[in-house]
Amino acid sequence: MDEHTLDYKENDVLQEFEMLTMNAKAAQEHILKKILEKNKGTEYLSKFMNGSTDISAYSSQVPVVAYDCVHPYIMRIASGEQSSILCGERIVELLRSSGTSRGEPRLMPSISEDLDRRTFLYSLLMPIMKKYMRGLGKGKAMYLLFVKAEALTTSGIPVRSVLTSYYKSPHFLHRKHDLYNSYTSPDEVILCPDSRQSMYCQLLCGLVERQHVLRLGAVFASAFLRSISFLEQHWCDLVNDIRIGQLNSSITNSVCRSATQGFIAMPNPELADELEVICSSGSWKGILGRLWPNAKYIEAVLTGTMAQYIPMLEFYTGGGIPLVCTMYASSESYFGVNLRPLCSPTDVSYTILPNMAYFEFIPLMNGLKLTDHEEMVENEKLVSLVDVKVGYYYELVVTTFSGLYRYRVGDVLQVTGFYNHAPQFKFICRRNVILSVDSDKTNEEDLHNSITHAKKILENRNYLLLEYTSCTDTSTVPGHYVLFWEIKSTNEDTTTCALLDPQLFEGCCIAVEESLDYVYRRCRAHDKSVGPLEIRLVQAGAFDALMDLLVSQGSSINQYKTPRCIESGLALKLLNSKVIACFFSPGILHGLCKRYCDCSSLQAHLLRCHSSTSFVWLCHYEVL
Ligand code: AMP
Repeated sequence: MDEHTLDYKENDVLQEFEMLTMNAKAAQEHILKKILEKNKGTEYLSKFMNGSTDISAYSSQVPVVAYDCVHPYIMRIASGEQSSILCGERIVELLRSSGTSRGEPRLMPSISEDLDRRTFLYSLLMPIMKKYMRGLGKGKAMYLLFVKAEALTTSGIPVRSVLTSYYKSPHFLHRKHDLYNSYTSPDEVILCPDSRQSMYCQLLCGLVERQHVLRLGAVFASAFLRSISFLEQHWCDLVNDIRIGQLNSSITNSVCRSATQGFIAMPNPELADELEVICSSGSWKGILGRLWPNAKYIEAVLTGTMAQYIPMLEFYTGGGIPLVCTMYASSESYFGVNLRPLCSPTDVSYTILPNMAYFEFIPLMNGLKLTDHEEMVENEKLVSLVDVKVGYYYELVVTTFSGLYRYRVGDVLQVTGFYNHAPQFKFICRRNVILSVDSDKTNEEDLHNSITHAKKILENRNYLLLEYTSCTDTSTVPGHYVLFWEIKSTNEDTTTCALLDPQLFEGCCIAVEESLDYVYRRCRAHDKSVGPLEIRLVQAGAFDALMDLLVSQGSSINQYKTPRCIESGLALKLLNSKVIACFFSPGILHGLCKRYCDCSSLQAHLLRCHSSTSFVWLCHYEVL
């Protein structure tokens, strides 16, 4: 096949996309009609619609809900009741999303035809990419893809992640004929449930095929970077395997082993020497281009909270390989595609596909804080897909074929424009308050923005903020915000010890506090109801260890997103055990102290509360 001419299938899919976006309103009405037809007899819908399939009755009578309203139905189905209480079709699997409810993963219902919808979205990605880049069919993709072990409910329904479901489906496994889906990782390795062994073998295959690799990637940037950091730790073993033609004995999964062994059937000392020179020659800045010299781009989600990984990826690419975000999706439904894949990750907008689900939007009039997630939303407030307005912020609500009705996904989006009649959205954040000590309410975006502000101070001193999370520490009175930071020097000869400059981090604490909202600052400076913000620096690898812990507790490595707030005992304990230094905001503390506090009691208090961490920087207290 000549890859410069679109083949029939690609033309079909692009034409269908044109049709759908041109007729977005009709497509959405058609979708809702079909959903109501199929699901009108369910216990859930009957409660509100009494068997009707009238669209306006749906809009006025069916309430907008969060997960807690769906949860009892999911649990009933999980324990053996008919799918028909929620959905007209049989629920064939429950998809474990990265969101949690009361500490438990959320389970989303899924029916077999959902796979076709997901596949439709995937099938658009390469035809779109091909409009901007040539020659992509002449090589391979090193995409680091992982599955997660699945469980069965008592009634025998598989519980798994949406990506595990897709990678195990014939839709993924039978894609071999597709010119653009030639991956370096064998299916058996992708399907290996042990993510460490899978990562090792996928990297090995990618290294062996390094000259043929045209695309690198993972689903989320966090998993890609995690794999590169794994490579940084294990390249000696990988190179040794290639040199002697024998797979490391730590790979014990027999299917994974035999699929990978074929890649290194013969000793290859030349390739091993090349790789050794590249990996051992000092800085890893720009290493990706040296290891995979023909890579044309790196694909991963880099929007939303993933945006913080852009500097680190740019470090590994040396700025020489474009970063591409292609799609926006979730376990509830897939949503949209980026029609300008080569734009900067900070400018990415996703065009919603009107055939994925029925979409509605809660307008967020006063910025992002209009409604709390728990608050009731009046039905008439909702805006339909084609009626959203450019520049405005909305919270996404979906109605799916598989039993979610006016369900709040929890994502906040901003409209940036339209493609034909389908709106395009910038992903802003997940709608959730993550830190709150008093009347202050800091959501993920507030925190992200204030940290973005502060990390410029680090970057000016040649340090990158690799990862962060937060918690509220209410063991102090008043309680205060704690940020866990893992940082890395971009200056090769700077050691970690040299990083511990109190002034630098105190400056960062102040910058974060100054960027937080009015209520926070009022609580800090006036009401004295929030204590000085603290940054706890953690040792290198602490966030990898956190990921390992959370993956071992059931998170999927593919869908893993570093939680921006840690509440659980074990995760918090782990991070606290990795702390190498603590710093408090002195500026506001100083002002606060002069105006409102008894210095000596606050000093004693801080010492008491933080004596358990590995280091306490007493110098902070001198500013008191
Ligand atoms: P999950 O339910 O685990 O599949 O995660 C889905 C969530 O991941 C979405 O609701 C978003 O919050 C986030 N997400 C998925 N795709 C993107 C994207 N392209 N950009 C930003 N966030 C995303």
